Amino acid sequence: MPPVKILVCGNIDGKFNQVFNRVATVNKKNGPFEFLLCCGNFFGSGDNSEWAAYREGSRRVPLQTYVLGSAGRLPRHLHPDADDDELCPNVVALGERGVFTSTGGVSVAYLAPADGQHPSAADVRALEQALLASSAAGVDVLLTPGWPRGVTRRAAVPAGVYTEETGSLLTARLLYCLRPRYVFSGGLAMHYERLPYRNHQVLRDQQTHVTRFISLAAAFNAEKAKWLYAFGLEPMSRMARADLVTQPPDVTECPFSAEEMASAAAGADDAAKQYFYATDGRGEPAAKRRRQQPRADRPPPTPCWFCLASPEVEKHLVVNVGDKCYLALAKGGLVSDHVLILPVEHVRASTEADDELWAEIGAYKQRLQQLFAAEDKAVVFFERNYKQSHLQVQCVPVPSRVAPALKEAIQDHCDSEGVSLDEVPPLSDVRQLAPPGAPYLYVELPGGVKLYHKVAGKLPLSIGRSMLACPPLLNMPDRVEWSQCVLPNDEQTANAKEFKTKFKKFK
Ligand SMILES: [Zn+2]
Repeated sequence: MPPVKILVCGNIDGKFNQVFNRVATVNKKNGPFEFLLCCGNFFGSGDNSEWAAYREGSRRVPLQTYVLGSAGRLPRHLHPDADDDELCPNVVALGERGVFTSTGGVSVAYLAPADGQHPSAADVRALEQALLASSAAGVDVLLTPGWPRGVTRRAAVPAGVYTEETGSLLTARLLYCLRPRYVFSGGLAMHYERLPYRNHQVLRDQQTHVTRFISLAAAFNAEKAKWLYAFGLEPMSRMARADLVTQPPDVTECPFSAEEMASAAAGADDAAKQYFYATDGRGEPAAKRRRQQPRADRPPPTPCWFCLASPEVEKHLVVNVGDKCYLALAKGGLVSDHVLILPVEHVRASTEADDELWAEIGAYKQRLQQLFAAEDKAVVFFERNYKQSHLQVQCVPVPSRVAPALKEAIQDHCDSEGVSLDEVPPLSDVRQLAPPGAPYLYVELPGGVKLYHKVAGKLPLSIGRSMLACPPLLNMPDRVEWSQCVLPNDEQTANAKEFKTKFKKFK
């Protein structure tokens, strides 16, 4: 199938005749285009005198056009019926946020916050939920008037824009979580096209598609800056994965850090923060009902399995929730009281943890040490920062009597797997041992012994379990693979409940 052709424009500002004449010309010459998206203001601050002819039908909009924002917010003299999102034939107001799939299969998500620039946490969360509830495979195009803060990092910075302070962190978080392929923004009324950026970390995450951020100027601006963007794209729903994830030669690293994105959510006010943890699937745009095409069944795009706000999280395994991290029973644990310390928000590795998160992880470790000591057990903590996207501190208790054998047995076992675990100074901090993004295996033993392996090539994925399951230690080779150890759901729930009660006694 040929690619779907799309037009996107910046602020129209009431220049309807000029804009629609140009759109008709471009459509005739380079089309047919499926639709026009306006990622800025549709109406202008003036009298919008040209509008009446379109509303009355004496002039025609040449192409199906989607406009950000809701019909209900428009001045009544421009649009008398607040409940009708069809502004005139061929022009639909999308509403404040939502997602729809076009006839050609392109999935479009959009967010138009009330002030035009800064969405609230509730706005962002509602859009994420709408996307999860939809059958879209992912987001081909995201429209948002405001700029994501920091988007120009690791790329050219346009003159006159200090993007460390321009735009919204929450919009940045939205890009980070939704990974749209194209993002269009008209709010700054300037033309800027960022080099495409990666949505995965090389060597660590599975390769995924890139994001392109494009800001458009206002229509017919005096500087003649680009305001109309024409392109063709193959919807991701019908692309082979290999084609989708191909990296263009000019790709850059992601401009947003996991740590910053976690704080974007945490920095929201309390009411909004609550919203991030809510899992209701509301936020469906009014206009979606009649436009969305029936689609083949696909798994919804999920931000993460371990972010506490993710609907995918296995809530019945959660034992305790703190401010920055939470404790959950491991699914298919090596032993029945194998637990995980996990950040509430998406943080990929210890090396990306801020001081507050790091302190809370430390406090959880201490409580667990006390709890296990009361049962005559010692605890081993390890983190495999390799082929996983959300930080997991694995906590595995072992009988105290094997504690003295741990270091040698673990090092021997890892050696035999080609993994050299080196002892590092007891006061060293794993966050300083590895640069953010570098893969590693990190182990903490009772008595403060720390072992570290920098991954250069491959790392066996179950190394953390196999080093403890080896004959000199737990001697349970049949429990190395977690998938072989998963208990029925009711037993998992019962175990988590029991652990919860136990854990409460230790402060
Ligand atoms: Zn996560």
